[in-house]
Amino acid sequence: MSHHAPLTGKRHAEPGLAHPVQWPHVYAMQWDAVGLTDCGLRRPQNEDSFLCLQEPGVFAVADGMGGHAAGEVASGIAAAIVGAAAPTLPLTSGGRPLDRALVQMVRSANAAIRAHSLTEPTTSGMGTTLSVLALLPERGEYRVAHIGDSRVYRLRRDKLRQLTIDHTLVQQMVEDGDLTPEQARRHRLSNIVTRSLGIYEAVDADVVRGRVDPGDLFMLCSDGLNGLVRDEDIQAILTQPLALEVIASHLVEAANLRGGYDNITVVLVRIGDQD
Ligand code: CA
Repeated sequence: MSHHAPLTGKRHAEPGLAHPVQWPHVYAMQWDAVGLTDCGLRRPQNEDSFLCLQEPGVFAVADGMGGHAAGEVASGIAAAIVGAAAPTLPLTSGGRPLDRALVQMVRSANAAIRAHSLTEPTTSGMGTTLSVLALLPERGEYRVAHIGDSRVYRLRRDKLRQLTIDHTLVQQMVEDGDLTPEQARRHRLSNIVTRSLGIYEAVDADVVRGRVDPGDLFMLCSDGLNGLVRDEDIQAILTQPLALEVIASHLVEAANLRGGYDNITVVLVRIGDQD
């Protein structure tokens, strides 16, 4: 894989945040979550890692890259750093302090991966994506921090929406109007990421803010899922009225039925309905 100079991270909020539901005053936000990872059918090892912290409601997917199983080390370090930082995130206050803490957490993961590479020459050049979802129950909001081409989606009222923007060459070509999203998915250069952890000294994560609705279903995944399964098929699986564990296994199955060329990881977080 090749890399380009790191870009500056973006901060953005979803449009249309004005919202009738007032979580903090009506009832408590609750959620269930599951994580599932699968080697797929072609790769000798699974270099994805995930984190599924029911409390305090912090979730992550990391997709490692590098020879000699180093990708697994990189993604494992990223997930561990998120797990260690999760209890310290200012999820109650939210706002800019939280955004800054998330960006700092991603930088810490980058520094830890790079430090490990220096002590362990076999892992030199290892890297990973990192996508994190944090829930803010007191505020009825979520945050996503993200670098690389793993994705965070949200299913709301049966409609799937991708919350992250891939840091890939083909995504830039889509934005320039040179490719359609479907062409990008199948493009031979689709796995070239423009931002990741472990490669550069300086990294900057995108941060996405949004409100949470009762019944929302969030999905974090590695490209072993969305690279093989179209969004409309993912949406069809996510809308099935099944247990999260079953939905997760159906998603992995769908990727393996389409070739299972890559490791497949999904983390599902379902927000409880209003009682
Ligand atoms: Ca992958």
